[in-house]
Amino acid sequence: MITNALSVDVEEYYHAAIFRRGTNGRGPRHFESRVEESVDRLLALLGEHHARATFFVLGEVAALHPAMVRTIAAAGHEIGCHSDRHEDVSAQSPHEFRADTRRAKARIEDAVGEAVVGYRAPNFSIGPAQSWAYQVLLEEGFRYDSSTHPIVHDRYGQPDAPRFPHEIYRDGSASLTEFPIGTVRLLGLNLPIGGGGFFRLLPAGGSWTRGSRGRRWRGGTGFATTWASRRRRPSCRRSWVNSSSARLAKYSSRRSIRRDASR
Ligand SMILES: [Zn+2]
Repeated sequence: MITNALSVDVEEYYHAAIFRRGTNGRGPRHFESRVEESVDRLLALLGEHHARATFFVLGEVAALHPAMVRTIAAAGHEIGCHSDRHEDVSAQSPHEFRADTRRAKARIEDAVGEAVVGYRAPNFSIGPAQSWAYQVLLEEGFRYDSSTHPIVHDRYGQPDAPRFPHEIYRDGSASLTEFPIGTVRLLGLNLPIGGGGFFRLLPAGGSWTRGSRGRRWRGGTGFATTWASRRRRPSCRRSWVNSSSARLAKYSSRRSIRRDASR
């Protein structure tokens, strides 16, 4: 049986990289929270289609909205970790990464009341130069990671990385399994069908579930973010490129999530 996995990064709009310049990195004390409304909408949509997903939650969000995390788990979805404050792993030392991850895991587990074993780095920021992070994740109790996007991208991406689930790290009898974001291979290139801006801008025929129907497909992971499912977000100062990207993300994410949950 081939399994396609849907995942959701549970974060506020102000955590997203495309808004960071406009928000100057300021956090929950400066901006209105909208994550609960977004999660409610996603849970209703998934419930309507009897679909299950993994929700990678920020530690900061779990600490502020513990009841929301419990509601997600009670609906039958898996809870994973999306770091504590959405700082890129590539911007941290191993010591800082361990502290951030430990704090996030504790906050999320306090909220949900069960062990969290899955991790997704903010902005897919574990690349070859951050491979030390896998040992840290294993030591901190994680059993799988989903931080690889095997595409060419200006901020992240590893086009040469394996495209399907595989063991990415082993230490004795303990191992870490990697679940890369789904891609299709065409003309020697990996095309992003698992999530993000590329996916949102593709026509309906480019959705990851439809793209994964080829005979060589071995299952893949799709992702969405909570902020992209909202109808309305507060405005903040952005460059023209970021502003346009955000508007497109807002429109196309809702459309693509709805489309894929119905399959
Ligand atoms: Zn994120």
